[in-house]
Amino acid sequence: MDFLAWIDTILFFVLFALFVYVFASVTITSLHKVYLAFHFSMLLWPVCQFAIKTMDTPKVQLFYLKLSFVDMCLLAVGWLLFTVFLTGHSLFLRKKMSLLLFVPALLVASCVIVNPNGKFVLPLQGSYIHRSYGPIFWYIITVLIGYIIVSLYIMSRALISDKAPRIKTQVKQVLKGIIVMTVFILLDIFFNVVLNSSLPVIPGLTSLGILLSVIFFVIAIHRDKVFDIVKIAHQDIIDTIDHGILVLDDNEIVIEINRSLFPHIDLHIGFRFDMANILSKGQSSSNIDLFLLTYQKHPLKRTEIEMKFPNGRHINIQTAPISVNSTMVGRIITFQDVSELHRLIDETNLQNEILQERNQSLIIIQNELSQTNQKLEHLAITDGLTGIYNRLYLTQKLEYEVLNNIKYQMPFAVILLDIDFFKLINDNYGHLVGDQMIKSTVEAIKQTLRQTDILARYGGEEFIIYLPQTSQSQANLIAERVKSTVESNKLIAKNIPHSLSITISIGLLSINNFTFENLKSPSTYLNELLESVDKALYKAKEEGRNRIVSIVK
Ligand code: GH3
Ligand code: MG
Ligand code: MG
Repeated sequence: MDFLAWIDTILFFVLFALFVYVFASVTITSLHKVYLAFHFSMLLWPVCQFAIKTMDTPKVQLFYLKLSFVDMCLLAVGWLLFTVFLTGHSLFLRKKMSLLLFVPALLVASCVIVNPNGKFVLPLQGSYIHRSYGPIFWYIITVLIGYIIVSLYIMSRALISDKAPRIKTQVKQVLKGIIVMTVFILLDIFFNVVLNSSLPVIPGLTSLGILLSVIFFVIAIHRDKVFDIVKIAHQDIIDTIDHGILVLDDNEIVIEINRSLFPHIDLHIGFRFDMANILSKGQSSSNIDLFLLTYQKHPLKRTEIEMKFPNGRHINIQTAPISVNSTMVGRIITFQDVSELHRLIDETNLQNEILQERNQSLIIIQNELSQTNQKLEHLAITDGLTGIYNRLYLTQKLEYEVLNNIKYQMPFAVILLDIDFFKLINDNYGHLVGDQMIKSTVEAIKQTLRQTDILARYGGEEFIIYLPQTSQSQANLIAERVKSTVESNKLIAKNIPHSLSITISIGLLSINNFTFENLKSPSTYLNELLESVDKALYKAKEEGRNRIVSIVK
């Protein structure tokens, strides 16, 4: 019978336990949880008071009386926690030391539950409707006041600190609530406990105080959106981000759409989203069908595609599942405008092309320059009249060749030749005919030479021939050949009735012996050689011209 009377109460506690489970596991902020626990504790006090007054059985009355005071102890801790959260000291609660906050309240609550020898409360006239409180009651009151004082201290510190004005307004509001409640609790104690014997009981004072303080909280919650700050921040982030964000449920129904996407897409919350329809409006360089297939058949896979729409915008579409225990419960689809990126890439490509074109024309200029350079180089080493090498080239070439010949002991020869009585040609037929004679002589000499021989104009009507890898006898033969070829060469010039011919005098130098001393200064050695061959030529002139004077070294 007794058990049956308690059955509803037991069920209530089972339901309450479930409520606590849901409350603890649901994803809401700690501030929400602290406040709701706190609010629940506040609810419990008037309910218990009502139960005490309406129950007949003293045992049950005592249960509710104990429950209401245990609840009051929890409420005191709740106040403190709420204060700590509100003033931004929630980190403190992560420290082990913070558990000490519960100790006084738990001690007091256990005293209430045990009620040793009625030291907390005793019934009057066999019922707890009228009761007399013992010393434990005053101990409870002291502890509660202690908690309230600590809360008040923390709040007043927050008010004089440099906390944000929004927090200060909230703290003020809660402060008002705590003061009102404390005043009513104290009035209840004063009238109904201290003056109990002389005055009739004034009911509901503490409950009224609790109600008034809750009203202060509710105002604060509504006016300052105390609990919504995180949600507001999330919404703000979602709305200010320049990606379009779409949240769908597992039936492709829109449950959230952010402000960036809203103007671009004709969709509202509750509408059905049609990915195929969106894709049909644009083009993509990727495989649209493959993307759509993955999207429809493999909803747990993340996919992405870049589309180009008729308005010229490039949009990157990404889909990601929202899954719980590997089951898709919805999707997040983001739309990112990558047109600017494309524009930059196009611009960079264009600049690259321009640079390449410039590079190309630079290469052309470089080629032209190098050709001009080659021409200049050619000019610098070529004689303008005859087109053969000039003296500069030949002396440079000889410096190198002579060195090599000495090194490898290779015989060589140098011919220096001068046209005989050339002044007479100039004087008799004019300078132009003289030029023609020079050219014609050069052409004739060229015919007699080998490919490796080098002919150069030494100056005026003097020429030099370098004969590499040539023995003395070979050199003599070549010199003879040159002399006779020139002699038999005939020039037919304008306005001159007969052909013209000339003879030459030749100085020939053959080198067969090599001393390594010569290696030390090739240019001095070369000068010596040139001097020698010059002397030979001079001798040929002196001896009557049209002859060869050869010397061997
Ligand atoms: P020799 O037998 O002693 O050499 O008598 P030569 O008259 O030839 O005397 P020399 O070699 O000293 O004189 C060369 C002359 O050749 C002098 C100059 O007027 C002439 N000459 C030099 N270079 C050129 C040229 O490029 N063209 C023409 N037409 N005449 C030139
Ligand atoms: Mg001469
Ligand atoms: Mg001369």
